[in-house]
Amino acid sequence: MITLQGKGVSGGIARGRLSFLKRKSLSVEKRAIDNVELETERFHAARATAAEQLDQLAGTMTDKIGKENALLFEIHRMMLEDTDYTDPILDIITSEKVCAEYAVNTAGSCLAQDFADMDDEYMKARAIDVYDVSKRVIRILSGEDQSLGENGGPVILAADDFTPSETAQLDRNATLALVSRHGAANSHTAIFARTMGIPAVISFGAFLSGDLSGKQAAVDGETGVLYIDPDPEILKKLEEKEERQRREKENLEKRRGKPTLTKDGRPLKLYANIGSVSDADAALAGDAEGIGLFRSEFLYLGRNDYPDEDTQYESYRKALEKMGGRQVIIRTLDIGADKQADYFKLPEEENPALGMRAIRICLTRPDLFKTQLRAIYRASIYGNASIMFPMINSLEELVRAKEMAKSAREELASKGIAFKADVPIGIMVETPASAVISDVLAKEAAFFSIGTNDLTQYTLAIDRQNDSLSSFCDTRHEAILRLIRLACENAHKAGIWCGVCGGLGGDYSLTKAFVEMEMDELSVEPSRILKLRSIIAEC
Ligand code: PEP
Ligand code: MG
Repeated sequence: MITLQGKGVSGGIARGRLSFLKRKSLSVEKRAIDNVELETERFHAARATAAEQLDQLAGTMTDKIGKENALLFEIHRMMLEDTDYTDPILDIITSEKVCAEYAVNTAGSCLAQDFADMDDEYMKARAIDVYDVSKRVIRILSGEDQSLGENGGPVILAADDFTPSETAQLDRNATLALVSRHGAANSHTAIFARTMGIPAVISFGAFLSGDLSGKQAAVDGETGVLYIDPDPEILKKLEEKEERQRREKENLEKRRGKPTLTKDGRPLKLYANIGSVSDADAALAGDAEGIGLFRSEFLYLGRNDYPDEDTQYESYRKALEKMGGRQVIIRTLDIGADKQADYFKLPEEENPALGMRAIRICLTRPDLFKTQLRAIYRASIYGNASIMFPMINSLEELVRAKEMAKSAREELASKGIAFKADVPIGIMVETPASAVISDVLAKEAAFFSIGTNDLTQYTLAIDRQNDSLSSFCDTRHEAILRLIRLACENAHKAGIWCGVCGGLGGDYSLTKAFVEMEMDELSVEPSRILKLRSIIAEC
């Protein structure tokens, strides 16, 4: 038996034959051309066909991967219209006098590499989308269809990486699990696999070699382990685990729709963290009682320019409508540090995590901030919205940010535009400074939500992006727990509620500690909600 360790991105257990995805080969030659105009037209025609195919996919894939996930294909279509994508291709055709296939391949690979080199994990994961789009256009130019090769199922399907188009096309009944050498946990491939209920493990690197094709294997999507020629004992253990998971799932399902109560009957709110309107579906599917953190900066990422007020308003309105009266806490722009967008033209900094980020940008650029605030206030009439400021360090910052919210309200009022005037305004407690002066901040905030990801980074002086420091990063360090406790106590003394929206909120080993602190809310990944509800009932 061989045991390979990867990164589990979609849970579940599968057993069966391992088979490498048979892709129709795609050879791209550098062919010289005489007529640049004709070749440019060929490219535009292929682009138009690709756009039609993507429109169709966006329409037909909804049953399989969900309506919001299928929107990815619309984003692929938009990429085909983006001059950042098309200009370099046209340049290569014109300047090098080469065929469109070669130009698409070269420029597409270059752009994909640019994404792959970015620091932000979300942007990094977009590289495969660029590759996917380019492959589609090249296949059209070469007169090939887009279907997958015959893989003979049911099999555990292996590949270097799977493009979103490939994953969406998979036959669920013929695909027991997905395993890949590369990939990203937040790639659309991983998201699709989770939606389709296919176990998936990524990042095996070269260990997942072609020689393994045809061997019997077993995958555990939770632990990220792939067993080749599994021993009977391992198979037995996996079967038992599968049965346990099935029973646990059945038990947790009984908690769906029920209130979250501690052992002595104290209510605690279990909310979900989301990064887009589409995530609100997952929040509802996970039985979230509200949204504790809408990371609004994702509306600003992956674009060439600032989203305007109407675009933002639409997103906030849709999220509020989807959540139907449940509380939705919209965190204002938290860009900078690990989340960069070129058009912000942020200064080059030695230490971006300690630099111009989040509320600091918003206080420095009132127009930008007020555009977002107006959009939130306009949307507020469609549900139960709250506003939350990130990275607040001082009372002065909080007061200034609240003044800008007031000014946004006045602007709307002067134009006769409807909004809710009493949207609660809270803050994230995510720096040691804010936790230490939480007694002062609590007087001006409607609530606290503790951002333990940044609080950990700033308390322990450990860069949250630096994997090589993980052995030094004790996320349950007493210093962090004391700061959390202090903020929670100060919130209660001032008569406001306190929650946790950083990763620690979903750490089951800390649930009891949070209940003992009388934390009022935990905002977590939707898939953790039912389990947390069951743990809280025992605390
Ligand atoms: C946090 O810092 O804990 C948090 C929730 O914010 P983000 O992870 O988006 O920085
Ligand atoms: Mg943070």
